[in-house]
Amino acid sequence: MQRYDYIMAGAGAAGLSLAYHLAQTPLRDKAILLVDKEPKTANDHTWCFWERGDGPFEPVVCRQWKDVYFYGAGYDALMDLDGYRYKMIRAGDFYPFVRRELERLPNVHWVYGDITAVRDEADGASVVVDGNAYAGNWLFDSRFGLSSLARQPGRHYLLQHFKGWEVEADEPVFDPGKATLMDFRIEQHGETRFFYVLPFDERRALVEFTIFSADLLTDDYYEGEVARYLRDFLHLGAYRVLHKEFGVIPMTDHPFPGQRGNHVILTGTAGGQTKASTGYTFRRIQQHSKALADALLTTGRPHVAAPFKGQFALYDSMLLNVMARNRYPIKEIFTLLFQKNPPARILKFLDEDTSFAEDLQIMSTTPYAPFLAALWDVVRGRVTA
Ligand SMILES: Cc1cc2nc3c(=O)[nH]c(=O)nc-3n(C[C@H](O)[C@H](O)[C@H](O)COP(=O)(O)OP(=O)(O)OC[C@H]3O[C@@H](n4cnc5c(N)ncnc54)[C@H](O)[C@@H]3O)c2cc1C
Repeated sequence: MQRYDYIMAGAGAAGLSLAYHLAQTPLRDKAILLVDKEPKTANDHTWCFWERGDGPFEPVVCRQWKDVYFYGAGYDALMDLDGYRYKMIRAGDFYPFVRRELERLPNVHWVYGDITAVRDEADGASVVVDGNAYAGNWLFDSRFGLSSLARQPGRHYLLQHFKGWEVEADEPVFDPGKATLMDFRIEQHGETRFFYVLPFDERRALVEFTIFSADLLTDDYYEGEVARYLRDFLHLGAYRVLHKEFGVIPMTDHPFPGQRGNHVILTGTAGGQTKASTGYTFRRIQQHSKALADALLTTGRPHVAAPFKGQFALYDSMLLNVMARNRYPIKEIFTLLFQKNPPARILKFLDEDTSFAEDLQIMSTTPYAPFLAALWDVVRGRVTA
């Protein structure tokens, strides 16, 4: 039986990204196995993220914006991102791009089927797919299910759920030069609710209804809200729905372990790459994948020293606590953040790249009382747990 150097259990965003990053190094000659339920052919995600300059997947960035709209509580702005670009990648472009890149490597193999077990072993790890076992030196597991999260006391467990319609209007109604990052003008219903709009051209855009809350809604409800937004806020006349997407991702400060045993490394959402307070994951997956590939290249082991991010984890927990306990409307907090700070400072903060002095500057623009109450609750919750 062939033994692989690296096995990706799950070949979605994280599994494919890691394989792609490995393929950019001399490790491209290693034996690599990618396993997924089925070939990724559907356009099942639209990933947005911001960055300065070019990223690893520039050829499949289908749109990018240097100005984005923000609609908050009594404050609207067209925000110049000051060197950042808000970028959009469609899974329907990303999957075949990575696949073409990997198909040039004869030592990269693919297996499609249901993974029923992943095992850490003394000298490596193995995966069982439809009853067949495959062994390797290192295994990267990105399978994730919300139900697999064993809730821990003192932690927050919210969901980010969204329904998006790609629409084509009869009339030219969109400005393809500007996306809408967040539109909070809709009813909040005691939760955090907003829309974002990603225009492809003057007639076509992805319009996505996003909710941060504890519970999902019915499909009819999501659909009704999207239709209402198109009518009341975008003033679309006749239009066709070309494509729909629905997603649920965790918004949690659950302590995700980086690995299971010695040879199974957890990646993607399963490895805690989803930012607890925003749900943004795609760019963090790229940073993590690059770090794993660099570590394998230089040390032969995929062990990445976690940069000290302690204060950002605490800020995330505090924001989740404000949300979960309904301490202050998040719509107003985001409004204050974007109204009283240069938008680029907020993006840098969400990227966890700001200095402590910048963090204090940002915090001074938000109300103290709910965050102090949240801090007390978070610390007390952890100590009690
Ligand atoms: C609709 C949607 C839109 C999103 N938009 C954004 C965004 O704009 N920006 C952003 O930063 N993040 C976004 N996210 C969050 C995040 O980037 C994505 O969820 C991303 O796909 C996570 O990558 P992953 O590899 O962890 O999971 P996935 O991409 O889901 O990959 C996991 C893979 O494991 C496979 N798998 C699972 N179980 C098994 C099994 N038993 N056997 C075989 N294979 C299995 C699955 O088929 C899948 O291919 C979005 C998420 C969703 C759901």
